[in-house]
Amino acid sequence: MTCADCLESLGPYIDGELLASEAAVIEEHLKTCPDCAAAHQRLVSTTSRLRAALTRHPAPDVLKARIRAALVQPVAEVSAAPKRVPFYRVVGWPSAIAAAAVVAVLSSALTFSVTARRPAGETVRSELISSHIRSLMPGHLTDVASNDQHNVKPWFNGRVDMSPNVPRLDSLGFPLVGGRIDYIDGRSVPVIVYTRRQHVINVYSWPTNTTNEPPVTASSHGYNLIRIPRNGEELWIVSDLNRAELGDFARLLVGNS
Ligand SMILES: [Zn+2]
Repeated sequence: MTCADCLESLGPYIDGELLASEAAVIEEHLKTCPDCAAAHQRLVSTTSRLRAALTRHPAPDVLKARIRAALVQPVAEVSAAPKRVPFYRVVGWPSAIAAAAVVAVLSSALTFSVTARRPAGETVRSELISSHIRSLMPGHLTDVASNDQHNVKPWFNGRVDMSPNVPRLDSLGFPLVGGRIDYIDGRSVPVIVYTRRQHVINVYSWPTNTTNEPPVTASSHGYNLIRIPRNGEELWIVSDLNRAELGDFARLLVGNS
């Protein structure tokens, strides 16, 4: 093994991602090469200092959606590769980490769809979260993209059996992005889309018999949901935005409807 080969494999070696036979060759080289051993030592201490000091932030929806879109290409490259090449060398570290994140996101979505026989309210909630995740895939967020409520509201005429409220909240920090039609609980429902920084907020609504009730907030799989039954209509707000800001949004939405 050359020093160049050794140095190139140090990262994966430290992260325990090499085959046992590959790791043994590195280990052997480190015993006999002071330069590589010093480099190894530096990397180990940097890695442990970083791990101790780093703050972890959950990825916002928009970033997750971008990662999913970017992943299509590297997967094709992997399958075309003639011999076994470590995944991180094919797609590069950032994509490999991103891929792991996406697998985690998708498998949590899957867990939702395969769990059967839930109470009715919970089925609606899991459908809403699945719909929210689906909306973040490229090209799925809006059927009508506009920041003007006078374009978005009329678009639903004749497409669904209700006219959704589309208040304009740009000046209050929640720009309107557009609208789409989704299928929830066995019916087509209008969805109005807002954003807050990098976070997407989906607002679903459908007619209901219940009278006005106070809003109910729930959290599931990193998403926050707020249900607001009012004036013969059931509103559901879904986002990965934090509870406090989503609560602000709910109050503004109802107050300006
Ligand atoms: Zn060496």
